[in-house]
Amino acid sequence: MTQSVYAGGCLCGALRYEISGPVSNPCFCHCASCRRAAGAPMVPWGTFARDAVRITRGRLSEFRSSAQVWRGFCAHCGTSLTYRHEARSAEIDVTLATLDDPMRIEPAMHVWVKDRLPWVAIGDSLPRHETGAAST
Ligand SMILES: [Zn+2]
Ligand SMILES: [Zn+2]
Repeated sequence: MTQSVYAGGCLCGALRYEISGPVSNPCFCHCASCRRAAGAPMVPWGTFARDAVRITRGRLSEFRSSAQVWRGFCAHCGTSLTYRHEARSAEIDVTLATLDDPMRIEPAMHVWVKDRLPWVAIGDSLPRHETGAAST
């Protein structure tokens, strides 16, 4: 697979990242935890090798949002940036909407659809998974 380079960052610009390497499992997550973390009805995520994601400016702050999950954000502006699960420590998920060019990676499925808010209408024909199990 060809190496891809993506760049992105938070709203205020204090935190910048670069990603070398391909995405896997780009998805929309409808889970209640992502919703609160981002203040949004669903969150588009892409999974990358952890060592392919490099913070090039600022420092990623993290907090533990559930037993084995660390969510990364900009301490300055609060933008939700990353998700990592201790059970898959070689990987990290990045919020695709924080890419400088979010058009480059399109979500390919919906996960945690059982948590979907009733006023969110899914208008695409992508696969829908009731939980996250099928995405990893
Ligand atoms: Zn920021
Ligand atoms: Zn989620």
